[in-house]
Amino acid sequence: MVIGVPYDRTSTYRSGSRFAPSAIREASANIETFSMRAAVDVEDLKICDAGDMNVTDDPAETIERIRLLVHQVAADGKIPVILGGEHTVSLGGVRALVGTDVVSFDAHMDLRDEYNGDLLSHASVMRRISEHVGLDRIVQIGTRAVCKEELEFSKRISYISAIDLHRNTVERSLDVLRKILDGRQDLYVTVDMDVLDPAYAPAVGNPEPDGLSPNILLSLLQEVCKKNVMAIDLAEVTPHYDSGATAVQAAKVLFESLCYIETRRRKSFLT
Ligand code: MN
Ligand code: MN
Repeated sequence: MVIGVPYDRTSTYRSGSRFAPSAIREASANIETFSMRAAVDVEDLKICDAGDMNVTDDPAETIERIRLLVHQVAADGKIPVILGGEHTVSLGGVRALVGTDVVSFDAHMDLRDEYNGDLLSHASVMRRISEHVGLDRIVQIGTRAVCKEELEFSKRISYISAIDLHRNTVERSLDVLRKILDGRQDLYVTVDMDVLDPAYAPAVGNPEPDGLSPNILLSLLQEVCKKNVMAIDLAEVTPHYDSGATAVQAAKVLFESLCYIETRRRKSFLT
């Protein structure tokens, strides 16, 4: 069940991610639907687009509305797919579920206690999530932009930096990821689109150089989706900062993720 959350009130650099849900929908209507990686066609999946949620200027209220909606969708046995919006939307999504580990694809750690006095901000979203699930339940991938406060936390979470991903072969990176995911069951997956290099995804709230290629992102996502993905979100696309490339990348990430999740679902029906 796709839920758009057109919310970007705490964006600190380039705002406009409130326009991302419609931009990603438009892009998704104009790319091919067959995943060659998964050998699944997204057209064959049962997908419902619930449209956009009503949001308010109040972060706590918006996060609570996301929580309520995601909880209801998950309770109905569907997989919530949240289209942000800024990264703060993940907090509502994670709070809606119980007992999940959280896999975050992001250039940043988002582990600051507060940013500009805001406790509920895109720059603090993983800190608030860590208070909900515990630091040991967080896996970060593509990390390359941290502050000193966050580095302290980095000793207590699992993460794969963008630099390690650049240095290793894809196969080696997948091995490392498999080890980190070993023993984890249910996952909440969040993709902050700034995990990609700005060359591929320039229209994001806080672009950060030295990022991932679409190939490595999709390869890692495919591995992650071998676990039980309970919900997924896509955040931080600011569509007015490019001519549509970033929204297309987001639509691709969305389609591919859904196909990877379907692969696992089909296998579990057979066994
Ligand atoms: Mn983020
Ligand atoms: Mn980020």
